[in-house]
Amino acid sequence: MNLLRFDETTPELNLRLAIVECGRIIYDRGLTVANDGNISIRLDDERVLITPAGLCKGRMEARDLLVLNLDGDLLESDSNRGLRPSSETPMHLEVYRQRPDVRAVLHAHPIFATTLTVAGLSLPVDMLPEVLLTMGEIPITAFATPSSHEDAEVIRDQIRTHDALLLRQHGSLTVGRNLDEALIHLERLEHVAEVFWRSTMLGNVTRIPPKIMEQLLENFVRGEIRNLLS
Ligand SMILES: [Zn+2]
Repeated sequence: MNLLRFDETTPELNLRLAIVECGRIIYDRGLTVANDGNISIRLDDERVLITPAGLCKGRMEARDLLVLNLDGDLLESDSNRGLRPSSETPMHLEVYRQRPDVRAVLHAHPIFATTLTVAGLSLPVDMLPEVLLTMGEIPITAFATPSSHEDAEVIRDQIRTHDALLLRQHGSLTVGRNLDEALIHLERLEHVAEVFWRSTMLGNVTRIPPKIMEQLLENFVRGEIRNLLS
């Protein structure tokens, strides 16, 4: 059973377990380290389930998670342990405000993708076909001062039209209808960042010619290469 592929009918306990499982995957795969990153799910029109501040995402329990309203007020937590929302919570809430179609938000610190933003480089979309065909361009946000309202401000415009963003000198933000989609975007983003870095080290990054990119897109629209990507 893939807990990450939930839908509107999935019970809250399973959604809690989905966040715990996603945290374990991103930590074990090195997509985030220490207690960095945060994961959330939209429970309904009013409430969001989200990871708390200060916990390693690889070692969470279902009861660690917090329930907030869309203004960020804490509605439910395991009060005996004093868990509190992360300072990055406003970024998640901003996604839910801007994107009614999104039910899962995943913020991580993947090493290769984050390195590109520190180096001031963009992810090329014309290097590996699956990137353009699944995520399109992956923009880099402006720099946001940590623990400030800027986290939400810098993503506001770009998240309306993109499912994956690079946060400058910070990490990644990926979204989806469930956590499986958000995690697939994160894995693909980090994969292409690593391929880009390695090919740059070898001295050559071959781009796909524009005409072939056009053809790929056309075929994708007709459904001819969807099987290759699934
Ligand atoms: Zn972060």
